[in-house]
Amino acid sequence: MERANLDWSNLEFQYVKTDYHLEYYFKDGKWSEAKIVENDTIELSIAATSLHYGQQCFEGLKAFEQVSGKITVFRVDENARRMATSARKILMEPFPEDKFIEAVYKVVQLNRRFIPPYGTGASLYVRPLLIGTSGIVGVKPSEEYLFLVFVTPVGPYFKGGLKPIRLLVEEEIDRAAPLGVGDVKVGGNYAAGLRASKKAKSLGYNEVLYLDAKHKKYIDESGPANFLGITKDNKYVTPASSSILPSITNKSLRVLAEKEMGMKVEQRAIDVEEIFDFKEAGCCGTAAVITPVKSITYRDREVVYLNDNEIGEVCRDLYDHLTGIQLGTHEDKYGWNFEVPMD
Ligand SMILES: *Cc1c(COP(=O)(O)O)cnc(C)c1O
Repeated sequence: MERANLDWSNLEFQYVKTDYHLEYYFKDGKWSEAKIVENDTIELSIAATSLHYGQQCFEGLKAFEQVSGKITVFRVDENARRMATSARKILMEPFPEDKFIEAVYKVVQLNRRFIPPYGTGASLYVRPLLIGTSGIVGVKPSEEYLFLVFVTPVGPYFKGGLKPIRLLVEEEIDRAAPLGVGDVKVGGNYAAGLRASKKAKSLGYNEVLYLDAKHKKYIDESGPANFLGITKDNKYVTPASSSILPSITNKSLRVLAEKEMGMKVEQRAIDVEEIFDFKEAGCCGTAAVITPVKSITYRDREVVYLNDNEIGEVCRDLYDHLTGIQLGTHEDKYGWNFEVPMD
């Protein structure tokens, strides 16, 4: 099959329509089989719970063409489990985890022309979405649901790839409350953060760094990515907080830091003042991979970790280990790659 005619090495992180997506419907207490759909729009009740009361959750993961030509998806079992957790938290019908993995394989197979070639730095981003579809105006959980999954070929999330970013500590806007839904992947958290992100960008920063909403003292995460700091004595520290999303990338990096790089890993409350003592910092997520942080601004103080176009040694090593496993140039010791059968 011929590949789509795209400028693979210069893709941005944005939506490109592909050939097909899959839809599954939950109705009368059971999930339907996959429906293969070409049109990338859906028809929905104007009273759907997802539209009015935010009953929706999503996932994000990547498929890669490895150096051997194999097509793999990274830790899809973790995404399947997390989506079910998100769904349960806002009283939605979870999509079965085994069917989730099958759906991801199937949508990648169907859109194989859009899998970026090995060596281009691009990947095929997979976006599963679950929404409440019942038309109910009262506030209660939907009875019917739509699970859909589409793909789009992407380049790096932050323009320039491994280019260091500048963060602004945000104190006037909260992304999520300690006992709210900050720990699940629901769209409302993103809506809550749009103003903060816009403000940071208008001031010349790339993203915000949120503090915990209760004490305004401990680091939570960046808008779409977890935060990690590297201490001068070479510890990997990352926040433990009830209002951040448990990132699968962060979970993977913690293993690599400890097992492959011999670092001590700490997941704990991080006082914002600690940023002034780190030697490196990074943001991590499926989209961001690990993006080095150039500087963090907190009130009237700025800590600068890197010069222009410099990348910290530890972040570079972590990045090489993680992307090496994803692309098959490093051994997959932990069984993180799931091969998509391509026949
Ligand atoms: C998805 C997401 C992340 C990154 O999680 P990964 O599993 O590593 O992709 C981090 N923070 C937020 C708020 C997210 O929604």
